[in-house]
Amino acid sequence: ARRSWRERLSGSAFARSLGSLFVRHPKLDDDLLDELETALIGADVGIEASTELVESLRKRMHKREFADAPTLLAALREALLVLLRPVEQPLQVAGRQPFVVLVVGINGAGKTTTIGKLARRWSDEKRAVMLAAGDTFRAAAVEQLKTWGERNAVPVISQGQDADAASVIFDALQAARSRGADVLIADTAGRLHTQGGLMDELGKIARVLKKLDADAPHEVLMVIDGTTGQNAVSQVRQFRQIVGVTGLVVTKLDGTAKGGVVFALAREFGLPIRFVGLGESATDLRVFEAAAFVDGLLP
Ligand code: GDP
Repeated sequence: ARRSWRERLSGSAFARSLGSLFVRHPKLDDDLLDELETALIGADVGIEASTELVESLRKRMHKREFADAPTLLAALREALLVLLRPVEQPLQVAGRQPFVVLVVGINGAGKTTTIGKLARRWSDEKRAVMLAAGDTFRAAAVEQLKTWGERNAVPVISQGQDADAASVIFDALQAARSRGADVLIADTAGRLHTQGGLMDELGKIARVLKKLDADAPHEVLMVIDGTTGQNAVSQVRQFRQIVGVTGLVVTKLDGTAKGGVVFALAREFGLPIRFVGLGESATDLRVFEAAAFVDGLLP
């Protein structure tokens, strides 16, 4: 499984720029560290995190703690892990029946795909899963979810076009309770350009869920497109003003994504990173593992 993280991440800008850096520049000196800083910033790690990381390595290099490039790399690996270990907190889907997961994020982030992958994962674990088609703004999103549910024998609760999202999700929770479902995953709309509307809608969803279960939703999972760079950071900031996000999913980290945004998110918010998307198929949604991720990025 470790190897597959590497296969998926080795094409990233992060892995490629670090790989070539140590080949071009095997000598340990300040130039190497300047280039390392540029590479980390270029890979979306964020300016502050990159500077802090490199300055701490620089001090240790001046104290001659590193004998060669491999020992410097080992120290870099450890410093990256220090950033990510705190956010390696897998989602525990237990203790509630149904366990209600509200999925939020802007259109195109990979919400619907992620919901399909999660439904598949939890069904495979022999949990009874139900879906709520709460992205009532986009007819295609409802259809996409329904089609997916039919193919995978997962019930999808939906209403007609332009239905009220809170009403769909309320109905879905009632249905999930009466059918004894283990997990309810609710999709939501993701139009950030009408922040007021989105705020009202997500607020209303949370309120109606609480009428049936005072603790619901038990997880508010925000899906973020990993290719959007530092933009991802401002998206999370905006959503956190609207709804109490409790976990993140970073998608599309396969291919040419910069990957470094995961470090920037971890440092900025400290929110659990529950899953990462390393491809389009169901098994490509991985429970986030800090060490596998870092090892996939480093040369
Ligand atoms: P939504 O608008 O947020 O519901 O986004 P969708 O679920 O429709 O996803 C948008 C596109 O991103 C689709 O083409 C997905 O196949 C693609 N996608 C989602 N997750 C991943 C991933 O982890 N890797 C890759 N390569 N593509 C992904």
